[in-house]
Amino acid sequence: MNKKLTGSLISKGVDNKAVLGVLGKIPREKFVEQPFRNIEICYGDSPLPIGHSQTISSVYTVGLMTQALSLNKEHKVLEIGTGSGYQAAVLSFLCASVFTIERIRDLSLKARVVIESLDIRNVTFIVGDGSIGFGEYAPYDRIIITACSPDIPMPLFNQLSEGGIMVVPLERDGFQSICSIEKKNGEPVSKDIAPANFVKLIGKNGYEAQTLNRCGF
Ligand code: SAM
Repeated sequence: MNKKLTGSLISKGVDNKAVLGVLGKIPREKFVEQPFRNIEICYGDSPLPIGHSQTISSVYTVGLMTQALSLNKEHKVLEIGTGSGYQAAVLSFLCASVFTIERIRDLSLKARVVIESLDIRNVTFIVGDGSIGFGEYAPYDRIIITACSPDIPMPLFNQLSEGGIMVVPLERDGFQSICSIEKKNGEPVSKDIAPANFVKLIGKNGYEAQTLNRCGF
């Protein structure tokens, strides 16, 4: 990551030193497909295709969401939407352990290969519907959902520790916004962070696959 990109991230509010440090050390080009491995492209300001009609978020979006999680080295983190594995790799350097769920097996397997090639050992890969979470290892100190949800997925919120934070893009009135949701006395306290443009969270507590097909998404 060059100085120009770091400057641009800081100017847009991604200024946490630990987060910037990790973004600077993870080779993003390893997480994108061959045609996008050019540094200018893979560190550019837009999401890139990763196959199966899914995307890897821009560095800015990954930085912003990671920063909003306010992580420490003790935290156990659940990520919904492994995708390329880049976000999971970033998280892995800032917390104790990451559980990441992806509904598309092929993406999960590819992400695992890349992450293992970087000698990252604190990420557990799960294939399935992340909109129901993963009760086996709950509660989680932090939850990050890297696909747009129509509402706060309550089964996931229930798997968050008291005082924990969930970061999730939510759709309201046709627009997406990345929200930070803190669990205070068992209740969600929500704050908007920035506009977003994510693929949809498909699943029991997201957008139902059948409805999506009917609408032609
Ligand atoms: N975090 C990813 C990365 O670093 O590359 C980008 C995630 S991509 C924007 C969204 C991902 O969410 C897609 O890979 C998609 O298949 C996945 N997804 C959508 N609905 C899901 C669900 N219910 N459970 C698990 N994964 C889901």
